[in-house]
Amino acid sequence: QAKFNGKNQVKVYKSDCEQATASYKLALDLIPAVEQDQFVLHFQPIVCLEKDTIIAAEALVRWNHPEHGFIPPDKFIPEFEKNGCIAILDEYVFKQAIVFIERWEDKPEEFRLSINLSSAGFASEVIKSHIKHYWQTAPNLLKHITLEITEQTLVNNVKQTQKNMQLYREMGLKISLDDFGTGYSSLSYLHMFTFDSLKIDRSFVSSYEAGHNSSTILESIINLANSIGINAIAEGIETQEQYKLLQKLGGNYGQGFLMAKPLIEEDFVTASTQSPRF
Ligand code: C2E
Ligand code: CA
Ligand code: CA
Ligand code: CA
Repeated sequence: QAKFNGKNQVKVYKSDCEQATASYKLALDLIPAVEQDQFVLHFQPIVCLEKDTIIAAEALVRWNHPEHGFIPPDKFIPEFEKNGCIAILDEYVFKQAIVFIERWEDKPEEFRLSINLSSAGFASEVIKSHIKHYWQTAPNLLKHITLEITEQTLVNNVKQTQKNMQLYREMGLKISLDDFGTGYSSLSYLHMFTFDSLKIDRSFVSSYEAGHNSSTILESIINLANSIGINAIAEGIETQEQYKLLQKLGGNYGQGFLMAKPLIEEDFVTASTQSPRF
């Protein structure tokens, strides 16, 4: 209902404007925040369901803002996506991920750290030049990195995305399709692009309660992944029942609060040395 209605209409504009201003302010905060290391990575273990061991982790960014305190990613990442700044954050996260890999001397040979790249981050020439630089100077670091991308990245520019995916995989990175099943055409993308793994969105896992509803969709996604020879990583495992179900269905890997919340670096490294422990 777009009719002019006096006072209320002004209110709508005002709140739109205030929101835009808030987003703009947050954007202005980004550069100094990057310079002052206000962003920190937390590490959530990814577990091999068969052996109960930590084989990988997902890097999840948190913002320790001097004015607003701790801000979770859901609050600022959509803003940075809207105002076009997200690639700056992705670049920072990528570099921090490399720093972590380099610093952790006792990491297992097979260990992989997943980082989330936005559509703009995956297309970024700046990030590409960093990756090329590491490929030339320290290729061993890249084989510990997985890039998690979403359908959004795939729809935006099919040809360029295919080219980047091929280039990055040649350089030793792995590529994972995040939030699988939540988009419009997840299935068709499995034909058009080559992935090393897919991450089953947590909505499919959390909706499962033994005896209450069926596990048909979960089972189908796992079978699909197995049939094309890629790993399925189930997100959001919170209960023993969900863990056992996924094991039974032949899911390879999982991640969730049942095993561990996202941990600070030190705690993650300690947890890895104590693995298996579940
Ligand atoms: P995501 O990539 O789907 O990441 C998984 C989210 O699920 C994380 O939320 C994680 O803490 C949460 N989670 C893990 N296990 C469980 C569980 O058992 N139960 C429940 N309820 N939640 C669980 P987080 O850290 O708040 O991140 C939210 C989203 O922000 C991420 O979703 C990702 O899309 C984005 N994000 C996080 N870090 C980055 C980053 O460095 N760059 C970009 N571009 N996006 C990021
Ligand atoms: Ca992710
Ligand atoms: Ca996800
Ligand atoms: Ca997500």
